[in-house]
Amino acid sequence: MHETAVAESILRTIIVEGDKAGAKPVSAIISCGQFNAINDEVMGFAFETAAMGTTCEGMTLDIKHIPLRARCKKCDTTFEFDVYKPACSQCESTEFDFESDAPLLLETIEFEENE
Ligand SMILES: [Zn+2]
Repeated sequence: MHETAVAESILRTIIVEGDKAGAKPVSAIISCGQFNAINDEVMGFAFETAAMGTTCEGMTLDIKHIPLRARCKKCDTTFEFDVYKPACSQCESTEFDFESDAPLLLETIEFEENE
């Protein structure tokens, strides 16, 4: 499953960062685009499972979904693509190109305060 592979790779990065910081990670935020969208529940479970027995066990993972943007071919407006209203926000044209999708990113990791 897609989420399992993603969870494992994120976990590895967090563990490395935790070692560098010499602290236990408590939470992290990842962001992803629409084409490689992640199912929050599946991801949460995959991450929890992968984190078992590591320094990341019990930490929280938040997933931010970045909307897909499109550029209108008629008026050159860039707008957030809405699947329920797939048209330019300015001129309502349905001729547009998609901008590149947001990549999957590990945005922030928070560590436990060192005593
Ligand atoms: Zn337009």
